[in-house]
Amino acid sequence: MAPVFLSERDIKDIKELIAFPKNIAIITHRNPDGDALGSSLGLKGYLQHYNHNVSVILPSEYPNNFHFLHGVEDCIVYDLTQEKAVDCLKNADIIFCLDFNGLDRVDKLGIVIDESNAKKILIDHHLDPEPFPDYVMSDIKASSTCELVHRFINELGDLDKINAHIGQALFTGIITDTGSFKYSTNASTYNVASDLKERGVDDYTLQDQIFNTLTEKQLRLLGHAVTNRLEVIPEYKAGIIALTKQDYFDFDIQRGDTEGIVNYILMLDGIKVGAFIREQPTIVKMSFRSKGDISVQALARDHFNGGGHKNASGGAAYAKLEDVVSRFKKVLPKYL
Ligand code: 5GP
Ligand code: MN
Repeated sequence: MAPVFLSERDIKDIKELIAFPKNIAIITHRNPDGDALGSSLGLKGYLQHYNHNVSVILPSEYPNNFHFLHGVEDCIVYDLTQEKAVDCLKNADIIFCLDFNGLDRVDKLGIVIDESNAKKILIDHHLDPEPFPDYVMSDIKASSTCELVHRFINELGDLDKINAHIGQALFTGIITDTGSFKYSTNASTYNVASDLKERGVDDYTLQDQIFNTLTEKQLRLLGHAVTNRLEVIPEYKAGIIALTKQDYFDFDIQRGDTEGIVNYILMLDGIKVGAFIREQPTIVKMSFRSKGDISVQALARDHFNGGGHKNASGGAAYAKLEDVVSRFKKVLPKYL
């Protein structure tokens, strides 16, 4: 899909929309990651320069290692306070949808957004955005939604409004969605990073806060996953790590504890596809990663009710762990 840029007309409209104080809701996807949180908090910081009443709504809670993000504790979490989240969306004059492409990614709040008369603005870098918003900035070549929020602020002529807190938030999503600049980058990713660093972002501390804050339990779980739960399938150039319900019990696995485990599979020489499949209490969740032309987005979309990016996707199924693993092995050859 071709990128959808904001036209000059769109930019003029949006400038008028945000010129005077309004109620603004920013919403991002379930299981928010660094890019979802960073783009939302960065945009919030920017909009507050115009004295708007801005709230960030998360469908579900965020991982612990993002506690350091400025203002993250003020996010409204739908799973914890449903009514507050719904009211906030219903009262919004403008709704920004960040880092997701379809209303099914925000669960029941999708209906509230769909029925709202607010102006809706989508900023995202996933494939095939749904046509519900009034304004769309969608570019799958962008490293992250954070990069696009920087572009958005730039197009409104407001780069000088980016302070250290906004910079910290936006740099976070660039780091997390590119694996610290290892993949999904383009020339503008580095320009944005450079601009943010010039505006005072301490990227060394940021990387340290994001990546060097594992709990002992998380590091031991990683060891267990790699030692006891990894299956390598050389003929498919694939690796699978499958965590059982018992693992969830034994390691008392909580939200965020399994973050990043999928990436270890692709560290194996010659391996091009990684699947990290986990049997959560009610659902089996999957994370897929690939290299080059192998599209795990198509695989997730076709067989696991999911999607994402060509080389990083996810999905979910109400099924047994063994059945999901064998379905993955069965369908994989079609995508190689
Ligand atoms: P992760 O594996 O890190 O959870 O997600 C990787 C990518 O796939 C992210 O861009 C995320 O938004 C997307 N993704 C993860 N789970 C799902 C899902 O269930 N449905 C869809 N459509 N996308 C998903
Ligand atoms: Mn993203």
